[in-house]
Amino acid sequence: MKKMILPMLLLGLLACKNNDEDTTEPIVMSGVDITTVAKAKFAGSATVTTSGDNLVITSDGRPNHKSPYWGTSSAMYEPFPIGHQTNPNGTIGIQNYTMTIPAKPAAATTHEATGLFAIGMALNGVPIFNNTEAGGIPLDAGTITSFDGAGAHPAQSANYHYHVTGTYTTVDDANLVGFIRDGFPLYGRKDKDGTYPSNLDAYNGHTAATTEFPDGIYHYHTRNENYLNTGYYILKSGSYYGTKGTFTE
Ligand SMILES: [Zn+2]
Ligand SMILES: [Zn+2]
Repeated sequence: MKKMILPMLLLGLLACKNNDEDTTEPIVMSGVDITTVAKAKFAGSATVTTSGDNLVITSDGRPNHKSPYWGTSSAMYEPFPIGHQTNPNGTIGIQNYTMTIPAKPAAATTHEATGLFAIGMALNGVPIFNNTEAGGIPLDAGTITSFDGAGAHPAQSANYHYHVTGTYTTVDDANLVGFIRDGFPLYGRKDKDGTYPSNLDAYNGHTAATTEFPDGIYHYHTRNENYLNTGYYILKSGSYYGTKGTFTE
């Protein structure tokens, strides 16, 4: 009997030791540095500066493209898409945004849900919102008729923002749209080889090469789902893959 019990005890001890090592060993996550791409690609009113391990991106929130929300007297005016109409929040206002994101974004151990207001910033300094409006209500057909050709509209403080795909960000392509608040880049529906990725995770992202990051990086994709058959596609919904930074206005 003793000969049987001793090996089993040893096995038990070894198993415990392995479990302890698994939980105490630091997990090394060397993120890809986004600094060079961010500094090269942010445009319009957006400026990028480095602060320690973070990038600080400021903007006035106004798009560098045409929209009906500039008002008919503006040189930047263009009409609404057919069947669309203005929302009660009026025209595009000047904001004072600061988004702080890690220069080397990394996966988080817990994945916080994206919420109301800005969940990221497009390359032109316009905030990216998820698929909900005030009150956490998912975008419905009525709200969608307030979108301009860019898939955007102003909220209550004239804060213009993107929810969905549009002419000036991404339609059906592999464009870099912007950066989400956890520092990971957001792309259009396609990968750079022109195909729709088939291995996306619960956050609608994966690690693969992109035009801007040829050695590979974790990145989100625009959801490849025709939202309510409107012809628009949600830019980003669900949870963050990494840890979200701050976004102040
Ligand atoms: Zn909105
Ligand atoms: Zn991809």
